[in-house]
Amino acid sequence: MPTKKIPMKTVSKVLAKKATSTLPTKQVAKKATPQKSDSGTPLSVVIRRRIEAQKARFHANDNISKFIKPGELEGLVDEVAEKMQAVLESLVIDTESDHNTKNTSQRVAKMFVKEVFNGRYVEQPTLTKFPNVSRLNELMIIGPITVRSACSHHLCPIMGRIWIGVLPSKESALIGLSKYSRLTEWVMCRPQIQEEAVVELADMLEKKIKPIGVAIVMDADHFCMQWRGVKDRDSKMVNSVMRGAFLKDSNLRREFLSLLEKR
Ligand SMILES: [Zn+2]
Repeated sequence: MPTKKIPMKTVSKVLAKKATSTLPTKQVAKKATPQKSDSGTPLSVVIRRRIEAQKARFHANDNISKFIKPGELEGLVDEVAEKMQAVLESLVIDTESDHNTKNTSQRVAKMFVKEVFNGRYVEQPTLTKFPNVSRLNELMIIGPITVRSACSHHLCPIMGRIWIGVLPSKESALIGLSKYSRLTEWVMCRPQIQEEAVVELADMLEKKIKPIGVAIVMDADHFCMQWRGVKDRDSKMVNSVMRGAFLKDSNLRREFLSLLEKR
């Protein structure tokens, strides 16, 4: 019967982990991805030092992908899981016998890092730009694009829709329609406040497309108003950013807004 060889290194790692882990955190320490550097510094601290060395910002809605090395995201998930487990313990939830919360810390960690806040940790989607060959300079409206985000204040979901208006110049580089959704998703998959999110998206589109004007309207449900706080189920927030021609030309602005109303 063939025996499966286990490399010595792996065995000692597993043993070491078993020996040091306490009962409640046992289930989150199952992955072999390093979450600490060789010196024992938590991975989040290592990444944070790289950011600080460059004097860069790392607010909730900033993308920090260039400071993260390949493979480190897995380690970050494990670190978050360990701390999430501590949160559950402080909430006095019996994650040992309650089968529903047994792996909640790992699931929440994965959800934050790999899904809902992924826009902080992954690079900007690549954009194929097309020269404006037919020299289009007519108003284009893209939307509604579904927005899934969370507020920076409570990490409560923000679910909504975005419309983007672009007035390209004859020299503008155009991007494929689906790229507007991908860019929007990348910006929104971070803890945000809506007012800043739309501004960031507008800045980015201005930089990429160099249009004569950009307009964004976002309309969203804020779960921190509906689930907690005032518990007003119907409260919504609508805000808009107008740039360039949309700011100067009230007819253009009216045309854009009236087209949204028909949707
Ligand atoms: Zn909130």
